[in-house]
Amino acid sequence: MVKIKRTYKYRIYPNRGQKSILETCLNACMVLYNDCLTERRDAWKTSHKSINYYDQANQLKEIKTFDDELKEVHSQVIQDVLKRVDKAFKNFFRRIKEQKEEPGYPRYKQRTRYNSFTYPQKGFKLEDKKLILSKIGSVNVKKHRGLPEDANTKIKTCTIERDLDRWYACFSVEMEIEEPNHESIANSIGIDLGINHLITLSNGDTEDNPKYLSKSERKLSRKQRKLSKSKKRSNNRSKRRFGVAKIHRKVREQRTDLLHKISRSLVNTYDLIVFEDLKIRNMLKNHHLSKSISDVSWSKLTNFVSYKAEEAGRRVEFVNPKNTSQECSNCGKIVKKSLDQRVHKCPFCGLVMDRDQNAAINILKRGLKRVGQELSEFKPEDFSKRRMIQEAPML
Ligand SMILES: [Zn+2]
Repeated sequence: MVKIKRTYKYRIYPNRGQKSILETCLNACMVLYNDCLTERRDAWKTSHKSINYYDQANQLKEIKTFDDELKEVHSQVIQDVLKRVDKAFKNFFRRIKEQKEEPGYPRYKQRTRYNSFTYPQKGFKLEDKKLILSKIGSVNVKKHRGLPEDANTKIKTCTIERDLDRWYACFSVEMEIEEPNHESIANSIGIDLGINHLITLSNGDTEDNPKYLSKSERKLSRKQRKLSKSKKRSNNRSKRRFGVAKIHRKVREQRTDLLHKISRSLVNTYDLIVFEDLKIRNMLKNHHLSKSISDVSWSKLTNFVSYKAEEAGRRVEFVNPKNTSQECSNCGKIVKKSLDQRVHKCPFCGLVMDRDQNAAINILKRGLKRVGQELSEFKPEDFSKRRMIQEAPML
């Protein structure tokens, strides 16, 4: 058996009174967070003394005697705020040590940016349709994805999250799964992550962004333009900002939904799934091409596939993407092509194939090599039958 961690996120429906308690709680946590930051910073500035988690935790009792808002917050939630500050500083010191990136001193949190608090062990209980939160009450919850049985004993933490006008509860659960058996790989697939198509499979299938998604994305950019034109600090502006954030959320949800569907179908169909290693890919590829949106989708997709595969005992490999689009997937020779050449046309062996599919087959080959198998049944003519390819100008 192997232990794995999963997060289950459910929407909760606090009533008006509970909402105001939740808001107060968030606010008290934010103030405490910023105060802890100040204390650490000042101690260092004035006397080069560094303050740790326990120094700050020892003061809590005293602080609670005069801070009325904090009195209303569960003690474990308060401790977790101190842990968050501690983590921010530990990360800061780690970045200084590694010297890989700008260290960036821990920052103060604004009201709109401090959106969650955590019960690290106790203080909550999940029932069928209710979530009972200590100091807040019994809140309606909608469980859309079933927690494993006897989940309450396995839930490690509960985080309450505010997302604009909605509230969510995120449960981190520790589960045990069977040791995966990777010996028999019958069905394998390589995946090219692209911009023309969201993904291209080594069997020639493609998956694109559906129309509704580009529709919402267009709407989003229109609203964003309007927002940037409106007057700073005006009432209208903050209303618009809320509106834009809501469309943002909708696009994000639609996209996530799509990626869940794609990853589910991949994991159900294949027992070896091979992707390019995105970290290496980011270093290799030039970065002018429409970056941000695809990047987020790609890493989300690989994450979704990875954890679903883990649960289902399927195997996922990440391979070096160097030259996957230049190399001929049939003879292995390098066939140089620029980005706008959509067809791979090999002058050495005569293979003509969609550029992305050629890359996907190379990715699959590298993955199979990793697990000690070969692409035995590979016949280029199978692929050209599946997919009509337009002739490209001669290379
Ligand atoms: Zn070739």
